[in-house]
Amino acid sequence: MKTETNETPLLAVDNLVVDYRRGRTTFRALKGVSMTIGTGECVGLVGESGSGKSTLGKAILGLTDVTSGSITFDGSPITHLKGAARRRLAADLQVVFQDPYGSLDPTLTVGQILAEPLTAAGTSRADAHRAVAEMLDHVRLPADTVTRYPSEFSGGQRQRIAIARALVRRPRLIVCDEPVSALDLTTQAAVIDLFIDIQRETGVSYLFVSHDLGVVRRICHRVSVMYRGECVESGPNQTITRNPEHPYTRRLLLASPVADPARQAERRRSWLGLQSPTGSPVP
Ligand code: ADP
Ligand code: MG
Repeated sequence: MKTETNETPLLAVDNLVVDYRRGRTTFRALKGVSMTIGTGECVGLVGESGSGKSTLGKAILGLTDVTSGSITFDGSPITHLKGAARRRLAADLQVVFQDPYGSLDPTLTVGQILAEPLTAAGTSRADAHRAVAEMLDHVRLPADTVTRYPSEFSGGQRQRIAIARALVRRPRLIVCDEPVSALDLTTQAAVIDLFIDIQRETGVSYLFVSHDLGVVRRICHRVSVMYRGECVESGPNQTITRNPEHPYTRRLLLASPVADPARQAERRRSWLGLQSPTGSPVP
């Protein structure tokens, strides 16, 4: 399993601040967040609703303005990239959103949806056709999916289509914003397995945003915990999900269902009842 390396990270976010205007006041949604993602690495971003996870994802994707700080992709600054330069970056940087219903154009066939990013970038129709067939195979959907419309598919299948669309230009990083949160538990598990397989097969990196530490625990190499616009804790998956330092991370972990109720009860006792004043990790 890949973890932090000494190479230049694929993505580096440094001291990022994002302010939203709210009428005559401003609201600071990110208060100086720093993080890195290596090639082939999955970094989880967890935190309760409103903690700033989507804002960080949007800032990376250029979908919201950055107040200060910097974002570097493969060594180049992309913090304020706009227009044609931002569109070129889309070959390397893609997104999968939560809502498999809203994110696919209902008037297009799946084949058209998947071919569009390629033909728009100048790929020939024949090559696009081949790439689309390959992507459907990647996400384990049947070949005849190309002629059908998004409305003909279940939530999990639509999310597979959204993943195929994100993959079709062979990006290096995909920002996944709550990509399984709208799915039932069984479908969630299957789609998470798909994300893991795709990462093994393609070496793509993920920023995997979820309010559910249980989901992030299954897929991510490293985890960053957001709380009210700040990154309060980050580290390897096992460290964060087994011995979290920060009381907020502990609460998040207790909120996520686990297979072993005895272990959960023990955690509840030791973390909530007998927390040491220094907040040192539970053995
Ligand atoms: P999360 O994804 O962790 O739920 P968000 O990044 O969506 O959090 O939101 C962080 C905070 O910023 C929340 O308080 C939210 O209300 C606020 N916010 C998000 N988008 C906007 C916006 N476009 N304008 C004003 N406030 C916003
Ligand atoms: Mg969000």
